[in-house]
Amino acid sequence: MIQQRKILLQESEIPTHWYNIVADMPNKPLPPLHPATKQPIGPEALAPLFPMELIKQEVTQEKWVEIPDEVRNLYSIWRPTPMFRAIGLEKALGTNCKIYYKYEGVSPAGSHKPNTAIPQAYYNYKEGVKKIATETGAGQWGSALSFACKLFGIDCEVFMVKVSYEGKPYRKIMMNTWGAKVHSSPTNLTNAGRSILEQDPNNPGSLGIAISEAVEVAATHDDTKYALGSVLNHVLMHQTVIGLEAMKQLEKAGDYPDIIIAPFGGGSNFAGIAFPFLQNNLIGKQKTRAIAVEPTSCPKLTRGVFRYDFGDTVGMTPLIPMYTLGHNFIPSPIHAGGLRYHGAGAIISQLLKDGIIEADAINQTECFEAGILFSRAEGVIPAPEATHAIAEVIRQVNQANAEGVSKTILFNLCGHGNFDLAAYEQFLNGKLVDFEVSQAEIDASLSQLNTPII
Ligand SMILES: *Cc1c(COP(=O)(O)O)cnc(C)c1O
Repeated sequence: MIQQRKILLQESEIPTHWYNIVADMPNKPLPPLHPATKQPIGPEALAPLFPMELIKQEVTQEKWVEIPDEVRNLYSIWRPTPMFRAIGLEKALGTNCKIYYKYEGVSPAGSHKPNTAIPQAYYNYKEGVKKIATETGAGQWGSALSFACKLFGIDCEVFMVKVSYEGKPYRKIMMNTWGAKVHSSPTNLTNAGRSILEQDPNNPGSLGIAISEAVEVAATHDDTKYALGSVLNHVLMHQTVIGLEAMKQLEKAGDYPDIIIAPFGGGSNFAGIAFPFLQNNLIGKQKTRAIAVEPTSCPKLTRGVFRYDFGDTVGMTPLIPMYTLGHNFIPSPIHAGGLRYHGAGAIISQLLKDGIIEADAINQTECFEAGILFSRAEGVIPAPEATHAIAEVIRQVNQANAEGVSKTILFNLCGHGNFDLAAYEQFLNGKLVDFEVSQAEIDASLSQLNTPII
């Protein structure tokens, strides 16, 4: 007899609403502040950057937000995504724990990012926007948005962090294939980029710098808006289709997770899988642990401070209440490019502060070891970002084994690593190194902050 491995849903079971965790949070996230006046901003301050419907979603306290039919229709290109019982991984680890994973790598872009790229492009299209400017780190967000923009006939301009632009040529080609224009950031095209290059012509770029460039392009062109692939409330909300589907799938399997694990860059795939389950924690029905896993080279959740900070490097975005390493922090060039961001979003930060979620930080060699083990047991070669979740799963399994208990663990396999094979090559050749940030580096970055303390 074949042991059931895949847990599938019908297209009709694609969620009809996104879940907004703000409605259930005991302490609501603090308001964003104006970058200059440092006073709370209203939704209208975001109007140069985002279409009105997304701004409404950014501030809404409504618990359920309806997914437009056009968006559900496009979701059905790859959704519902499969859930797998990780039978091979359980065997390899010799455990009684049950391990499930939701596989978001089946999207055209190969990650969870299209879950928000599609609705963002849709609302821009509905409001007559002609072009969207954005940044991308490893290229996952840029490729997802390029794909989504093309579906709605919107031009897409992507500022890609220089180290990735040079190290991940296939992601750039994907974006070009879907019709986007891609620049190596920092560029000479914006004031933000030029000021960075004046200080350091060899600056390797960072997400914070690329955001500054894309925001500047949107703010200075009437027909152009900006889009962000993580961090913001509406982005996290769009991703809850992952967890909502996962709940139905686990229900079919007759299970419920004790622990949910996801890698953490800005919080979108973690929020996506965890928030719908945390709803049951917040209303007192369950006690699931939700663990966000960040790289030791960019440890904002485990070693950052909770205070207001900018979302970008130059300081053009609103001030957001967040766990941050400081907006000038430039993380080491690890392969999990999607996790190299200095801060976390307002919702995630409040949840962490209130002890509703947990965080852990793991070095990249431990992560790649986990990724190799996973690929040999389960087949899929995980994105470097996703290996952080797998490494944490292994830590939790080892702990459960040592305690002689069995846990049900769900993790988000948020993307495949088919375009990240250079990183695997380095690992296999023993060339991959760990980056530990010294306390002095973190202190130096934080000491430059003059943003409001909470
Ligand atoms: C972008 C990305 C991440 C990090 O972003 P989150 O918003 O934290 O999800 C992680 N994994 C993959 C595959 C990504 O593309």
